[in-house]
Amino acid sequence: MKYIDLKSDACTGCSACANKCPSKAILISQDQCGFYVPQIDFEKCTDCGLCGKTCPVGHKKEFECSDFKIKAYAAYAKDEVIRRESSSGGVFSELAHHVLDKNGIVYGAAFDENFKVVHIGIRRKEELVRLRGSKYVQSFISETLYAEIKEALECETQVLFSGTPCQIAGLRSYLQKDYPNLLSVDLICHGVPSPKFFADYLICLENKYGKIKQYFFRDKNKSWKIFNSKVITERKNIIKYMGQDFYLYLYLNHLQPLLRKSCYQCEFASKGPISDITIGDFWGYQASKTLPDDDRGLNCVLCSTSRGEAFFEAVKKKFNCEIHGLEEIEKGNPVLLHPVKYSPRDRDEFWDVFFKKGIGGIRKIYYSPSLKYRLILFLKFNCSWFYNLLRRVYRLVK
Ligand SMILES: Cc1cc2nc3c(=O)[nH]c(=O)nc-3n(C[C@H](O)[C@H](O)[C@H](O)COP(=O)(O)OP(=O)(O)OC[C@H]3O[C@@H](n4cnc5c(N)ncnc54)[C@H](O)[C@@H]3O)c2cc1C
Repeated sequence: MKYIDLKSDACTGCSACANKCPSKAILISQDQCGFYVPQIDFEKCTDCGLCGKTCPVGHKKEFECSDFKIKAYAAYAKDEVIRRESSSGGVFSELAHHVLDKNGIVYGAAFDENFKVVHIGIRRKEELVRLRGSKYVQSFISETLYAEIKEALECETQVLFSGTPCQIAGLRSYLQKDYPNLLSVDLICHGVPSPKFFADYLICLENKYGKIKQYFFRDKNKSWKIFNSKVITERKNIIKYMGQDFYLYLYLNHLQPLLRKSCYQCEFASKGPISDITIGDFWGYQASKTLPDDDRGLNCVLCSTSRGEAFFEAVKKKFNCEIHGLEEIEKGNPVLLHPVKYSPRDRDEFWDVFFKKGIGGIRKIYYSPSLKYRLILFLKFNCSWFYNLLRRVYRLVK
């Protein structure tokens, strides 16, 4: 067995090649850092070359949605529970409901029983809770998932496929044609962290708090803008704000080395959409008369095709929303313009420590929130009214 002959740094791990292979000669395994990579079994391989032809890397233009002037919105779900349980404003869940109401299938990222993040399809609203919420780690796409989606599309079932932009590219490249009953929804994405790193982090948590029953990367009960994670273990419920949760701290302060190498040169997440609808957090939103800036979660929504716009229009009554300029959204989310910066030295150093000393070694070197940082977060998290008062006084004095 050998890794697929791709420029491996550019491979996104979208699994399109493995799904396409007629001899089932490609398996998706994990590389040394834990990222998903295709592996060819040369005993089964017939050298047909379909894997290489299906790889979407370098072929973005073929999938780009360029027939439509993007319409951008700020939106959040009127349903309070959906909004609270979602990472941003709950737009994904309402789009999904619309598809499930039509007996369709919704695909997205969920935890499996071992807390591995995997892409699954659901048909019932009760299952939607599994897809809800961002999982800040690369999600696994099986070697048969796109084939399953194709089958559903050929049977004229309405399908919503959600994921990172590279996963949408993977599916579209696998399908090789447009299906009117497919709605693609991608996330604004600055990159995906390593599944192995996250798995090791969960082991640390289990050693400290006991068996984990549920993990939420973002718990919004106190704030949307301050990232809080929530861990439910056999012994207790723990909510950690971003200075306390080591994984979140790294994610927000030392994100770059944690990401897959292809993310630094991602062609799918920026400059020119490849999905019908793109959703993200509306960072930098300025409150208007229609929508408050209430820190309870707000999506930005970009409709990039007439199909996406028609779909959003059909669900719009479920949202409080208003139209916005694309530039405003790009300002808060520069990843829509260019991928995250890459420092090979920082990355190599990070993984070197991880290979030699494990997550404990990383913690010692990279986890160093200053007293000021901790204090600000503590105030923001525990006494937001006092924090806001201090900020106002500070601004007045300044
Ligand atoms: C790795 C990652 C990076 C992101 N980076 C940014 C960013 O830089 N800026 C920004 O504005 N928004 C980013 N987002 C998106 C944001 O966190 C919300 O997911 C998005 O705004 C949708 O929010 P929601 O409230 O509508 O739905 P939610 O219910 O919060 O989101 C659910 C949706 O996210 C999908 N999803 C969750 N985890 C994954 C995963 N690991 N891989 C693929 N799909 C997943 C589900 O399939 C579903 O479609 C990122 C999300 C992820 C997973």
